[in-house]
Amino acid sequence: MKPAESSYDVVVLGSGAAGLSAAVTAASAGLRVLVVEKADQLGGTTAWSGGNVWIPNNPLMPSVGVPDSAEEAMTYLLSLSRDVMDEDLVRAFVTAGPEMVAFLDAKAGTEFYVAEGFPDYHPERPGGKPQGGRTLETPLFPFDELGEWQHRVTPGPYFAELALVQKETPIGAAVPQPPSAEELERRKVHDERGRGHSLVGRLLKACLDLGVVPVTSARARDLVRVEGRVTGVVVEVDGTRREVTANRGVVLATGGFEWNEAYKKAFLRGPLTHPVTMPTSEGDGLTMAMRIGVSLGNMREAWWSPVADLPPGVNAMNRVMVNADRTRPRSIMVNRTGRRFTNEAANYNAFGGAFHAEDVADFRYANLPCWLVFDQEYLRRYGTVGPFPPGEEPPPWLTTAGSLRELAETLGIPPEAFAETVERWNAYAAAGHDPDFHRGESAHDRWWGDPHLKGRPGATLGPLTEPPFHAISLVSGALGTKGGPRTDVDARVLDLDGQAVEGLYAAGNVMASPFGMTYGGAGGTLAPAMVFGFLAGRHLAGMR
Ligand SMILES: Cc1cc2nc3c(=O)[nH]c(=O)nc-3n(C[C@H](O)[C@H](O)[C@H](O)COP(=O)(O)OP(=O)(O)OC[C@H]3O[C@@H](n4cnc5c(N)ncnc54)[C@H](O)[C@@H]3O)c2cc1C
Repeated sequence: MKPAESSYDVVVLGSGAAGLSAAVTAASAGLRVLVVEKADQLGGTTAWSGGNVWIPNNPLMPSVGVPDSAEEAMTYLLSLSRDVMDEDLVRAFVTAGPEMVAFLDAKAGTEFYVAEGFPDYHPERPGGKPQGGRTLETPLFPFDELGEWQHRVTPGPYFAELALVQKETPIGAAVPQPPSAEELERRKVHDERGRGHSLVGRLLKACLDLGVVPVTSARARDLVRVEGRVTGVVVEVDGTRREVTANRGVVLATGGFEWNEAYKKAFLRGPLTHPVTMPTSEGDGLTMAMRIGVSLGNMREAWWSPVADLPPGVNAMNRVMVNADRTRPRSIMVNRTGRRFTNEAANYNAFGGAFHAEDVADFRYANLPCWLVFDQEYLRRYGTVGPFPPGEEPPPWLTTAGSLRELAETLGIPPEAFAETVERWNAYAAAGHDPDFHRGESAHDRWWGDPHLKGRPGATLGPLTEPPFHAISLVSGALGTKGGPRTDVDARVLDLDGQAVEGLYAAGNVMASPFGMTYGGAGGTLAPAMVFGFLAGRHLAGMR
């Protein structure tokens, strides 16, 4: 699809949360904006996501009775810094987050509400919120309002049913609460969709209403520079390259580089074998930015997650992030020594650290491979990864055995050590306390565990006693990388001398995340994508 014209005020590269937020903000100030999308459909990984957006001190927190302040948010985030966060950018995020929410609610009909009770990912840190309040979501959006664009948003591989809000899926609750069949039928009438689709649908509608017409199957290849200023971009459509002028500037919003093997090898701090994102995240924005000599930051990092590698046919990606499944009672994770190695119910991003730990003597990764192990009662209550609902036959790709010894032998791990591990775990479960890894002590772990057991130790601690026993191998994945061009507080890309490159902006996973190694809470990746997209749009429009 070719751009209708060859000259715009702003050209935005990428149609995920970062790109669409920038486009709406710039267009609502009257600028002429083009959105260029490499894939044949819109929305990027954002459309596949849960759609949660983590905004500390957001204007909706009073509605759920949770107090917050910019200073509390700064205290919380900087307590997780390890001296790698850029404090100015963190402050820009914390300050502009609430403004972005108010702006998009007014201009893009986002209708944010608090996903109640969702704790921060390190809620016991100073300034953390064990009671939640910072995680936002948008309500179901009727896609028939998009007219001819109704079927132009990428459906994503993970949930056949798009008409779900986050808590109705296993990425939003350890035990999902699916809507009734009647409610699902009702949602079909106007093609109401939730999660990332709702977010993309709302932003897209706002763009279309403002006259921003995206082009798809159009891949940005190169930035055009005149006397140091970025003045446009070379876009490839059907194998033909053409130049599009951007009189005010270009916004890089092309996502991460998790599908680019060479970049992963060059930059990341450890293995990322199984991204769960759009395969168009090949680091194109990074390539274009490196060509003009920008300054890079946070290159080692990703939004890490344990992932299950599934056989063909289980879902379109043959993989799924493993989130709720590891927090449920009657399950543990073990490595090749047959031992537990971490708090299984910790937030998914923290597993990057566990997966990159070295067995120094052996020169192997200490915790890869590893397995999630659970008993038959777990399967009966919760189903399993896939998702396979409770009560169904266990999927054939689970490793299943009648005894712990047999399971260990099949997995190739030492049976004695494995039996000791399970015995020790079962004793901890009975005592309601995990002295080894403190599972269940954080409000985070208990929010994810079995909500029917909320408030009790059994919310995430439970013994493995009922044969047969089951195992599934887990691998190192991510929801995107988070290193790239460094920016200033207005999302302007910086050159090697730390000066803003005139006319070039970056937002989302393409940019050097302000957050270093950290994931603040549910929605912690979409939030900076949208806030820095908003900041870019605002600066382009001269509103700052
Ligand atoms: C299952 C799942 C659930 C998730 N849930 C959440 C959640 O609830 N909350 C949260 O905060 N995060 C969540 N994430 C992570 C989140 O989806 C991503 O971090 C976020 O979408 C990144 O936004 P972005 O705008 O930077 O990139 P994207 O949304 O990926 O958009 C980038 C776009 O740029 C396009 N592009 C790439 N190269 C070019 C080029 N050369 N020219 C033009 N276009 C190009 C891509 O095709 C893509 O459409 C989830 C991820 C997954 C996989």
